Amino acid sequence: MGWQPIRKDPSRWRVAPNLPDYHQARAEFSWNAVRRELSGLPDGRGLNIAYEAVDRHVDQGRGDRVALRWLSKEGQVEDFSYTDLRDRSNRFANLLRNLGIGKGERVFSLSSRIPELYCAVLGTLKNLSVFCPLFSAFGPEPIAQRLERGDARVLVTSERLYRKKVQALRHALPQLEYILLTDSTADQPDNVLSLSRLLQESETQFSIPQTDPEDMALLHFTSGTTGKPKGAVHVHNAVMTHYLTGKYVLDLHPEDIFWCTADCGWVTGTSYGIIAPLTHGVTNLVDEADFESERWCRNLEEQRVNVWYTAPTAIRMLMRSGLKPREKYDLSHLRLVHSVGEPLNPEAVVWGVEALGLPIHDNWWQTETGGIMIANYPAMEIRPGSMGRPLPGIEAAIVHRISESEVEVEDHPGCEGELALRQGWPSMFRAYLHDEQRYRKCFAGDWYITGDLAERDADGYFWFVGRADDIIKTSGHMVGPFEVESALMEHPAVAEVGVIGKPEEMIGELVKAFVALKSDAVASEELRLELLGFARKKLGSAVAPKEIEFVANLPKTRSGKIMRRLLKARELGLPEGDTSTLENG
Ligand code: ATP
Ligand code: MG
Repeated sequence: MGWQPIRKDPSRWRVAPNLPDYHQARAEFSWNAVRRELSGLPDGRGLNIAYEAVDRHVDQGRGDRVALRWLSKEGQVEDFSYTDLRDRSNRFANLLRNLGIGKGERVFSLSSRIPELYCAVLGTLKNLSVFCPLFSAFGPEPIAQRLERGDARVLVTSERLYRKKVQALRHALPQLEYILLTDSTADQPDNVLSLSRLLQESETQFSIPQTDPEDMALLHFTSGTTGKPKGAVHVHNAVMTHYLTGKYVLDLHPEDIFWCTADCGWVTGTSYGIIAPLTHGVTNLVDEADFESERWCRNLEEQRVNVWYTAPTAIRMLMRSGLKPREKYDLSHLRLVHSVGEPLNPEAVVWGVEALGLPIHDNWWQTETGGIMIANYPAMEIRPGSMGRPLPGIEAAIVHRISESEVEVEDHPGCEGELALRQGWPSMFRAYLHDEQRYRKCFAGDWYITGDLAERDADGYFWFVGRADDIIKTSGHMVGPFEVESALMEHPAVAEVGVIGKPEEMIGELVKAFVALKSDAVASEELRLELLGFARKKLGSAVAPKEIEFVANLPKTRSGKIMRRLLKARELGLPEGDTSTLENG
C-alpha cells in the first residue's frame, strides 16, 4: 500500500545482531546445534526449562548478575540476582515436594506481577509439576472454569484475590488442595497457607530430577478472541524455541536490559516475560503496574531498557495519547522494539521511527506455537505491515485444505490462504487439554493449520490477512479486516478501528468499520463521510467500508486484542458467546 521498506544500515549498529544473514542462518540451521548452545541438566539428566533459565548461569559463574529487576506499583526497585532466583525457586520446588505435589500436577497462579510469582513458575518447573498462569483480572467464573479444566492442585494467589474470586467457588473444586497466599504470614483453615512461611521453612538446595524434554511443563489458555479458550499444553523442550527466538528475534545480548510488557497470565508473559530473556542471562525488567503512557516512557528512560517487547494495543494507546516519547524522554539506550499479539498497522511501524527513533519489529505467533514463528529480524529490511519471515528452523506455508487430512501448498508469489507450519518444532503444543478431537483437527498431514489467513510475497515475507473466522465475503471478494483497519488508521483523526462483515442480501456481507477517535477529534456526520471517502480512495469501492460507526472504545480481550466476533454479535443482536476474557467485561 505504498509504504516504503525500512532498510537497516549496518554502519549504525551499536551491537552486531545475532542474526546478520537470514538466508545463511536458514540454510545452515539445525535444532541439534541449538540444543548444544543449551547445557542440559548436569550428568545428562535431560532438559529442564528452569535449569536453562536460571541455574545454568549460576553454575557457569554468572550468579551475581541481575536476573530480575522488579518495579513495584509505588515505584520501589528491587533486584534479584541469578543466584537469588535459583535459591528462591529451589525453595518453592522443595515446598511443593513437601506438600506432596509431584510430576505433572498442576500449579496455578492468580497474581499480580510480583517476584513470588516468578519464583513459583521456576520452582514448579524444577519440581516437574506443570505451571498454569491466570490473569488476575479475570472474574470468579472464568477462574473456576480454568482451575477445573486444568485439574489445578495448587493455587498461588493473594489474600484479596482469594477472598474475592476463588473462595466462594472452592467447594466445586475438590482437586484444588492448597491455596498459597503470597501476602499472608499465618496459615488459615482449609489448607489456605502462608507462602512466606512455607518458603522460609524450605531448603535452598534442590536437585532437579531427570527431565525428559517431552515432560509437560506449562499449560496456557488461549486468549478467547474467537471463542471458548483452549488449554494448550507445552513441554520442557519448548525452551529450545524460547532460547532461539531470544537470540535471533529479540536479539538479546548478555548485558541487555530487556522489558516484556505482557502479563504472565498470557503465554507471552511466560515465554518472553520469563523464560527467553533468562536463558540469555540478561536483566529482565518487570513492572507491577499496568499501562500508563508516561510511566512506561519513564521506565524506558530510567531503566535504560535496550530491548522492548510490547503489543499493538499499547503502541496504539501511545499513539492515541499524542505523546512523542523521544521528545520528552531520553531513549538513547533503546536498541530494538518488538510487537506481538495482533496485526501491527504499518502506520504504527512508521510512528515508531518518528516517536521512538526506531521502527517497530512485528512478529507473529500463537499460544499453540509456544514461541515466535514469523518475525522481522534486526538485520533484515522491514516491510511495514508484514509479519516478516519464518524463524530459521521453521517452515511456514500458505495452504488450502483439500480434505480433513490433506492440504495443497501454494508456492507462487502473492499466494493467499491458510497459514500453516510444518509440525515438529520444539515448542509446538502437544495437546489441547481434555480435547483430543479439537487438537487433531488442527493438523493435516505434516502441517499444523493455524486458523489465520496470510499472504506470502515473492521474497518470502508473510502478510497477515485476518483470522479465518473474521474474513469478510463481499460481492465475491474476500476482504481481510486488517487491510481496511490499517487504511482507516492512516487518517489523522483515527485512533483504533475494528472491521466486521455484516450480512447483506445483495452482496453477501457488507464491510462495516467501528472507529474510535483520537482525543482531539470530534465525531460528526462530516467526519464520518470524510472517512468513508478516505477509505474508498485508498482501498477502492469493493473493499472500502460501506458503514462507519463511531465508538468510544472497541471491545478487547484482557490481552488487548480487538474482539471482532463481539462487534458482530452486538451488531446483529446475537448471543455474545464466551466473554470470560473480555476487558471490563
Ligand atoms: P483464541 O484462539 O482463544 O481465539 P487467540 O487466538 O487470540 O485466542 P492467542 O494464542 O493469544 O489467542 O493469539 C494468537 C493469535 O493472535 C494469532 O493466531 C493471530 O490471529 C493473532 N496475532 C498474534 N500476533 C500477530 C501478528 N503479529 N499479526 C497478526 N496477528 C497476530
Ligand atoms: Mg487462537
